[in-house]
Amino acid sequence: MTAPRRIFVTTALPYANGSFHIGHIMEYIQADIWVRFQRMIGNEVHFVGADDAHGAPIMLKAEAEGITPQQLVGRIAAERPKYLKGFHISFDNWHSTDSPENVELSQDIYRKLKARGLIYKKPVEQFYDPVKGMFLADRYIKGECPKCHAKDQYGDACEVCSSVYAPTDLINPYSALSGAAPVLKSSDHFFFKLSDPECVAFLKDWMGNNRLQSQVANKAKEWIEGGQDKEGNATSLGDWDISRDAPYFGIEIPDEPGKYFYVWLDAPVGYLASFKNYCAKKGMDFDAFLADKQTEQIHFIGKDIIYFHTLFWPAMLKFAGEKSKELNAANPKVRHIEYRVPDNIFVHGFITVSGEKMSKSRGTGISPLRYLDIGMNPEWLRYYIAAKLNANVEDVDFNAEDFIARVNSDLVGKYVNIASRAATFIHKYCDGKLAYAGDMVPIVEAARASAKSAQEAFDAREFSRAIRDIMANADRINQAFDAAQPWVLAKDPSKLAELQDICSRTLQGFKLLSVLLAPILPTVAARVAREFFGLDRDFTWSDTEVIPQHINPYSHLMTRVDPKLLDALFEPPAEAAQVTPSTPHPTSPAKGDAAKTGSQSASSGGTASNVPPPQPSHAGAGEGASHISIDDFSKVDLRVAKIAKAEHVEGADKLLKLTLDLGAMGTRQVFAGIKSAYDPAKLEGRLTVMVANLAPRKMKFGLSEGMVLAASGDEAPGLFILSPDSGAQPGMRIK
Ligand SMILES: [Zn+2]
Repeated sequence: MTAPRRIFVTTALPYANGSFHIGHIMEYIQADIWVRFQRMIGNEVHFVGADDAHGAPIMLKAEAEGITPQQLVGRIAAERPKYLKGFHISFDNWHSTDSPENVELSQDIYRKLKARGLIYKKPVEQFYDPVKGMFLADRYIKGECPKCHAKDQYGDACEVCSSVYAPTDLINPYSALSGAAPVLKSSDHFFFKLSDPECVAFLKDWMGNNRLQSQVANKAKEWIEGGQDKEGNATSLGDWDISRDAPYFGIEIPDEPGKYFYVWLDAPVGYLASFKNYCAKKGMDFDAFLADKQTEQIHFIGKDIIYFHTLFWPAMLKFAGEKSKELNAANPKVRHIEYRVPDNIFVHGFITVSGEKMSKSRGTGISPLRYLDIGMNPEWLRYYIAAKLNANVEDVDFNAEDFIARVNSDLVGKYVNIASRAATFIHKYCDGKLAYAGDMVPIVEAARASAKSAQEAFDAREFSRAIRDIMANADRINQAFDAAQPWVLAKDPSKLAELQDICSRTLQGFKLLSVLLAPILPTVAARVAREFFGLDRDFTWSDTEVIPQHINPYSHLMTRVDPKLLDALFEPPAEAAQVTPSTPHPTSPAKGDAAKTGSQSASSGGTASNVPPPQPSHAGAGEGASHISIDDFSKVDLRVAKIAKAEHVEGADKLLKLTLDLGAMGTRQVFAGIKSAYDPAKLEGRLTVMVANLAPRKMKFGLSEGMVLAASGDEAPGLFILSPDSGAQPGMRIK
């Protein structure tokens, strides 16, 4: 028996300017299944995450909302646990890059890289917004495309003709923040010397050790070996600009007033910061854990941030760690931290929806928040995603019909149902006792073989293969059960032993499947273990070989998916006209602060939450509603709306179709349940109040893009829509 592995596992840090999107949740589910499996086989796993809190987009978004960046980040952090718990993601700790641990570690790594001679300073000329008083990342500069002359294109690429250029190429550039014409201004920036031959040599060696999936290793090697100069030195690996000028929400560079670390420098350090924070809570020795040769450090990430995780991050850790040791030898007072280079980077693809890249504008987005809020079972999604994931960097497609089929016919039809069918007989005829006829050895051996093959698949992150095998096993169990015709045996008292044998084998098979599915279905498996098989703990992997002798009465484990839920999940996109434009956010390695708007991985590089806010849950609301903060209230975008048109809707008893004029924000179509109280002809032309940022809802009669407010009472009859005082104009904000 080998010693248990000690593994430190992270997922990419979500950018803290918005809620989780489905790409984040997919990554967490992937990592969580792997982590739960490792724990079940007895390994020591520490699994942490954190919010990526720094950078210009968060600073600007907070400013636009009139709050501090810390308040913004705090608001986002406050909603995280609900969704992490909701999807059963078993993080040991969730922290933030805006934390003392991250300041300490980021500055320490920087100091050691500097002492190692890998940091230098160089002036950089960049566009500067004279009104805002700040340098502008490419995404904050707009202008006319130099190629096709489309107006209002971003500073890095044209969305019309797809040309890529420098912001200085734009015709009539202007600041997207203030509208001012930007000026070119020079400022000192700090660079990490990634092109250093020792860095290059280290990276080649590091990525050559099977740490990376072959597709990822090939990509990373291309970046390193893309070009060579006459001496055969790599030329493509550029040095990395790691600084930003004030004003910036980030960590100050030691001894360099007004200079901050670029958010992408301190974001991955956040993995260690979260772990350090966790160690302090648990009384673990952070330094000793990292220094232990047995420790493995593993990062799960999306394919859009490979560059950062296969080049910058291992090089930072390698040379900071090395210098740490050297400085410590020279001066024992210098704190020595044995930064480890990552043992593995596990990269996954994106999640697409019905074959299309997840996109809000096409209305194909699915929100994990809404998924839970409309009452969908998180284990359905865990199962579905697992059934589609393998160890390659492939996109995973979410398809509604496929989802319904896999959950209803595989998960419920093949797995859950065999337990209820067999258990009914065992309780009715055998008092809950299981008994097997004949030799037990083949049963144990078959279970062992299944467990071994599932173990290999889980360990290699080949979850789809694991599920294929598990479901093939479920098919065999169902077939054997049906072939024995227990419902016939039950009618003949002389066949009782036969009946008990087939039902016992079926339930032993069900137990085996439950253990194998436990990393994917943690709550179902826990109930099976405790309620059905009477254990006083959750399953561990070795339970696969233990033949059950007794069962408790079966209680319902999981319902089928109602296809109506999928209709509710796939609501159409929120209109672009909504109040707060989504801010770009840091990513793109080569282009500094440029943001890839199409990107959607669970990482700093991910999109802002494009996903519409979930419908509020009305359960339990009422007189006793608790207080909300002004921040909560300000999330509701109330607007004065003019009823341009009001019409009856054919086939609808209660609804009127309203066309609402919001002035500069355009018009909205809203279905309002006010037919009983209003004659449509009398509504036209009057002003009312609407919620303008309610996620649009697809209704039977068409799309409803908001909500009109009306008063009604439980005691008194009637329904009364609101009107602003005279003088109010369509589109005015109510606050
Ligand atoms: Zn163009």
